[in-house]
Order: sequence, then structure tokens, then C-alpha cells
Amino acid sequence: MWKTLTVGMQNFFYHHRLQVLIDCGTGRDAVKKLLQQCDGVETLILSHAHADHYGGAVHFLRRNPCRLLAPPLEQPFLLYPQLEPALLFGGGFPTPLGRKWLLGPPDLPVNDLDWKQFPEIEGVTLPGHTPALCGIRDGERMFVADALFGSEILEKYPLLYHFDPHMALETAKNLPEKASEFIPSHGSTGGRELVKKNVACIENAFTAVKEAVRGGKRSIEEILSSVMERIALPATLETYYLNRSALLGYVSTLERKGELKCILEGSQVVCYEKF
Ligand SMILES: [Zn+2]
Repeated sequence: MWKTLTVGMQNFFYHHRLQVLIDCGTGRDAVKKLLQQCDGVETLILSHAHADHYGGAVHFLRRNPCRLLAPPLEQPFLLYPQLEPALLFGGGFPTPLGRKWLLGPPDLPVNDLDWKQFPEIEGVTLPGHTPALCGIRDGERMFVADALFGSEILEKYPLLYHFDPHMALETAKNLPEKASEFIPSHGSTGGRELVKKNVACIENAFTAVKEAVRGGKRSIEEILSSVMERIALPATLETYYLNRSALLGYVSTLERKGELKCILEGSQVVCYEKF
């Protein structure tokens, strides 16, 4: 049966009989504490290519050699880990974005995850936070990795990072049909009210972006500052770039839906409401 393992504030999902573990955390200590709770791992599956979920894979494979699998669409970021900080910054990235929870280890011996290899496991794809994040459904329970965040995380970081906020919102809204208990990677397990809280956080950011452009043209930088001041001031350069990258996804979603228009004026991109 599947069991939730916890190291610090991070949750992992482990199937004892099949010896399958989802994610391995970052760093030597986390891996050591995680392996102490496992009775052998034959397969380590990475839910998605964020370094806080796979950064410890080198230590893990050294202590517990096993096969390493990840969804095929997540693999470019696992094979070229510098793509993640580069995506957040928008190009060659400065030193703080190269820290271990944003920049994972290179050259991992990772192979394609194909759920057909595991007829007893109900794997689910939960796109939005990253392009092909995967979770596990175990009856009424679902391990959702970063498709949802626990309540205490939402209170601390109300501006959620999602690669594609529109897709993340659709994924979250569909979850209550699939299970009634959700285990996020970060924070406490919750029921359908946790889904509602995550949906509200994403919708709140969409509202803040729309209000930032109400009544006139605003540059992208003005929109970002306005939303961050309203929802969550970043404490570090890393959180600034996470917020910034996420917010650009909110802006582009609204642009694609025809709710706002982005144009170039001089050296700035400015946005305005489209009536
Ligand atoms: Zn993540």
C-alpha cells in the first residue's frame, strides 16, 4: 500500500511492496532521512523537474542504486538543469538563481516513465505547475506533488508559482472528481477545501493582475510591482524571480483570453484592458 513519508515540510509517496518512491528531496540529509523510512527502493519516480524534488538524486542513487524515471516531457529540464533558472530569469541567470533548490544536478541517468510498466499503479498527469507533473491516485487519496500546496504554505506564499497558471487552475478544478484526500509535496494533506483554497489563490492573482491594468496602460514592471505589493512581497531575489515568472504566465493567460492587450511602447511592453 502507498504510505506518505515526510522529511521536514516535504511529503513523499512510497509503495512498500512495489518498492516505488515518488521524489527524493534536495541534499544529502533529506535523502538519508527519507531512506531511513523506506525498506528498499527499486524505482525512484520524479514527479516533476524541480530541484527541490530531485536535487538529492545523486546521493540517493549512491546509497540506494535503482532505476530513475520521470515523465518524458519533464526530461529536458532534468537533462539540462540550467534551463530552470534560465526560464525564471529569462536568459543567462545570476548567481542566486544557481542555488541548489533551483539548479539541480546534471547528468542524471533518467529514463522515460511509462505507467504501462506499472499495471498496479494509477499514475495521473497534473499539468500546469510544470508541463507534465505526475501524481499517484490510491483510491480516494491522491499524491499531487506541487499541483496543490498545503494550507500553511498558501498562507506563507500566497502568490503560487505555476509554469502555466491557466492549466494549473483547470487541473486543480478537476481534482475533486478524482479523489477526496490530497497529499501535496509541501505542507499538510487536505480534502476538497484544500483544492478550493488553491483555486482561490490562483484566481486572486488573476484578479490582482486585472486590477493593476484597470483604467489605463501599465508597463509589465508596474503590473508585477503592483501585484507583488498586494499579494506577496518577495523576500529574496529567488522568490522575486519565481513570482515574476509566475506573474508573466498570469499576464499572458489574460492576453490569450483577449482580456488584456500587450503592446510595445518605446522600450517598454505596456498592457491595457481590452473592452
Ligand atoms: Zn515544483
